[in-house]
Amino acid sequence: MRISMVSEHASPLAALGGVDAGGQNVHVAALSSALARLGHTVTVYTRRDDPNLADRVEAAPGVEVVHISAGPPGPVSKDELLPFIPALGEGIAADWDTNRPDVVHAHFWMSGLAALNAVGLVGAQGDVPVLQTFHALGTVKRRHQGAQDTSPVERAWLEPWVGRNADGVIATCSDEVFELRAMGVDARHISIAPCGVDSSLFRPDGPAEDRGSRFRVAAVGRLVPRKGVDIAIEALARIRDAGRDDIEFLIVGGSGEADDPGSDPEARRLMECARAWGVQDQVVLRGRVPQSELPKILRSVDAVVCSPWYEPFGIVPLEAMACGVPVIAASVGGLIDSVVDGVTGIHVPPRDPEAVAEAILQLVDHPQRAASLGRAGRQRTRSRYSWDRVAATTAKVYRSTLSRVQPAHPFASPGELNLQQADGSGR
Ligand code: UDP
Repeated sequence: MRISMVSEHASPLAALGGVDAGGQNVHVAALSSALARLGHTVTVYTRRDDPNLADRVEAAPGVEVVHISAGPPGPVSKDELLPFIPALGEGIAADWDTNRPDVVHAHFWMSGLAALNAVGLVGAQGDVPVLQTFHALGTVKRRHQGAQDTSPVERAWLEPWVGRNADGVIATCSDEVFELRAMGVDARHISIAPCGVDSSLFRPDGPAEDRGSRFRVAAVGRLVPRKGVDIAIEALARIRDAGRDDIEFLIVGGSGEADDPGSDPEARRLMECARAWGVQDQVVLRGRVPQSELPKILRSVDAVVCSPWYEPFGIVPLEAMACGVPVIAASVGGLIDSVVDGVTGIHVPPRDPEAVAEAILQLVDHPQRAASLGRAGRQRTRSRYSWDRVAATTAKVYRSTLSRVQPAHPFASPGELNLQQADGSGR
């Protein structure tokens, strides 16, 4: 199949860890490469956010990234991108003049708008299906962030519109399906394909960073308040109050480089928080770390804490599990599916520093149990979350959507196509 991915703000070529560069970038890059390995041809459309970017870049064998000029050719926060989305749709439609896809997969709600717009512009509605993965939902964000949610107001009605008008929605976890149903998306058009992890990069064996004898815990990801890193800091304080200060806490991520991690405002806020709790000596800011360097850090830690307020999917827990590290996870969103309580990690209620403290202490005091959680995590990621498996599931969704909207299409799923051919219908 010729597949067009649309990822307006999240380029597969971007450096990770900043406010707007994380899981979506990884997802689009890894899914595209895995689909290409299955023999498909993938073009990823993203907004040009640097004037020096080439128009077209080969990101991996069979994967081309096309930079579309839409708005200023520099960084624009994703919450300010909406006015430039029509231009993105027009740029994509222009490219389709010579490069018409069989199927379109849009990532994040504004990419869905651009994709549906582009399909309309080339007159391909009902011919080229649009699949949508939201990655995050405005309804959930608003519920948790209230007035701090800086999404454009139009998201409230445009996002459900995308959900209802796309030919199919690919959720990344079961929790998201409930949210999509509440948004009015037809259940028959919803499928699930999770995010994956590169188990050849994230693996238990391999070099590990030098460390001291203190129990080592890490939080990894974009540094935004909703990731709840301050909850883990408060947990550290509670453990210290119980007489244990033999724990160090690494914070990996943020816009600051390793030599100046404090240049990130959220990193500074977290460090102030650590000072206020009196645990600043136990907290180490590491700044943004290239993904290729993360396994070395993960192999050196005893546990990873993911304590977000909410989490659409969360690739970091998969990366930790793939390295054989137990995960303490708030039981929200995708973490409910990926981390199995008592098997690959420990679930804690969201926003509950006391529960995080207890979970850390359980792992400190029971190293054998911690090791067995780590082993089970590795097994779980290998059996369920390889990108090859995710890509195969996703390609199946593309084919079944094609067979629904265009039964005679050569890439419609073989079983259904044969049926159509047998009785001569659908032509
Ligand atoms: N990441 C990274 N370097 C950093 C911080 C994060 O490579 O310094 C990567 C991390 O390995 C993961 C992604 O960014 O693959 C974050 O994805 P996740 O789904 O956990 O969070 P999201 O960004 O989607 O909220």
